[in-house]
Amino acid sequence: MDKQQATRAVLALADERSARRIADILSEAFDNGETVVGAFESADGGWSVSMHFSETPDEAVARHLIALASDEATAAGVRFEAVEAKDWVKASLEGLQPVAAGRFVVHGSHDRHRIAGNRIGIEIEAALAFGTGHHGTTRGCLTLLDQVLRTRRPRRVLDLGTGTGVLAIAAAKALRRGILASDIDRRAAITARDNARRNGAGNLVEAICATGFGAREFKHRGPFDLVLANILANPLKRLAGPMRAHLDASATVILSGLLPDHANGVIAAYRANGLVLQKQIELEGWTSLLLARR
Ligand code: SAH
Repeated sequence: MDKQQATRAVLALADERSARRIADILSEAFDNGETVVGAFESADGGWSVSMHFSETPDEAVARHLIALASDEATAAGVRFEAVEAKDWVKASLEGLQPVAAGRFVVHGSHDRHRIAGNRIGIEIEAALAFGTGHHGTTRGCLTLLDQVLRTRRPRRVLDLGTGTGVLAIAAAKALRRGILASDIDRRAAITARDNARRNGAGNLVEAICATGFGAREFKHRGPFDLVLANILANPLKRLAGPMRAHLDASATVILSGLLPDHANGVIAAYRANGLVLQKQIELEGWTSLLLARR
């Protein structure tokens, strides 16, 4: 009897930035639960993107996407090979290292016992955490959250566009306070709830399904003194006005999901709503912003 086969594809790259960009684009395109994509640093200091497909992938489509994220010559370098199916998820997770940001470490269950005692671990199934989110944006938000928490203990916190729930869980574990988390995608709200439970924060994170500020809970739980929103530049701009209506006078806002070229437009939209830029960081080609009420 034939063993069930999966496919692995590997692409060697010179630098981290292009590796991450290609991995981001591939993981969005193959967001079907059948594919795991990761960007890894190799021992020699080079980078690689690896993809594991549980079903035979359309190689031409994968190559085309890589070319879009880089160029044809880079795309020509990708190699596809058959691997045994039984371990494909395990194999694809092995290379994933815990990701540190300030006091926080995002890790998969395979690293649960390797988190230092002085860190706050956030356990997210790696395929979800790193396969669908933009790594650099999550890390940017966690880094800025860590900085905010050095001087303040926010009391009413909102994580808008919670996805896996990672930011809400981080805030809940650091503050031991109830956090409101929301997502336009119902499955994300359910995932965030599951992940909060898995992290012992099930009673602290309330995850709801809502578009923008379109639910009663925002009014009940607000006005917020800290909002985290890792979405994308255009929705963030549209949300500036509604967000203002849900902030208290001393509020701090952390925004991410924007490319550096879009930062000024987002900053302007929030300035028009009474929020001024305090800090701007760039990680893996993504910009994160810290803003505060004037
Ligand atoms: N906060 C997570 C996930 C970011 S991905 C992290 O930092 O890793 C962005 C999430 O925002 C997605 O789950 C998407 O479904 C959600 N989203 C996009 N537009 C939204 C909107 N208008 N209102 C609420 N959620 C939105």
